[in-house]
Amino acid sequence: MSKQFVIGNWKLNGNSDQIKSVLGAVAQHQFAAEVGVCVPFPYLALAAETLKGGSVQLGAQDVSRYASGAYTGEVSAPMLKEIGCRMALVAHSERRQLFAETTETAALKIRLCIDAGLLPVYCVGESTEERNAGKMQETIATQLDAVKDLPVDQYTIAYEPTWAIGTGASASPGQIAEVHGFIKDKLGNGARVFYGGSVKGSNAASVLATPGVDGVLVGGASLNAQEFVEICKAAR
Ligand code: PEP
Repeated sequence: MSKQFVIGNWKLNGNSDQIKSVLGAVAQHQFAAEVGVCVPFPYLALAAETLKGGSVQLGAQDVSRYASGAYTGEVSAPMLKEIGCRMALVAHSERRQLFAETTETAALKIRLCIDAGLLPVYCVGESTEERNAGKMQETIATQLDAVKDLPVDQYTIAYEPTWAIGTGASASPGQIAEVHGFIKDKLGNGARVFYGGSVKGSNAASVLATPGVDGVLVGGASLNAQEFVEICKAAR
């Protein structure tokens, strides 16, 4: 069985001092699980320097759907790889909701990550309305089209119901187990599926002990070194 994976997502937060202090503190620990942090683009190089020589992996929060060319403002998968990234989040729900990311563009990004040697962490999940309308499975099945035909060892899935992100209200272990089981049934048992949505120090152990959970994606709580370390230590 592979190690669990804890990935922090700093979103649009932080500055140079916080990168040095928070990541510097996290990097001093040894973890049984794999650990990664996705920081804003301008701090990737500083984060790479801060994490150098340790086991904490670096990731980006997004990646271009293009490999190179006349695409002002974009950052490509090969560029991220070159500066030390090991992974990139793809289609986080905030990008789907606020920046018109689609499953089709996600599919392009996932393939470019794989070609560049980055692990794509592909985010899927339903909204409250979709869940209440009985469309949770349909929504996620459609989102999973982005990885169809890809070998399961080349990507990971992060199940992040939008109603649990940043709300303080994590999905229950029963809800998480149900959806992770559904995703693994669709993709095959080798698929690695992480959960994200209000994971904190206080609920990490129970989330990580839930059947089918191969790791967690952590937003707000990853900005605090002590709490993020607590979550990382709960993973095995
Ligand atoms: C996220 O941003 O992916 C996330 C899960 O956020 P939070 O942990 O703050 O809910």
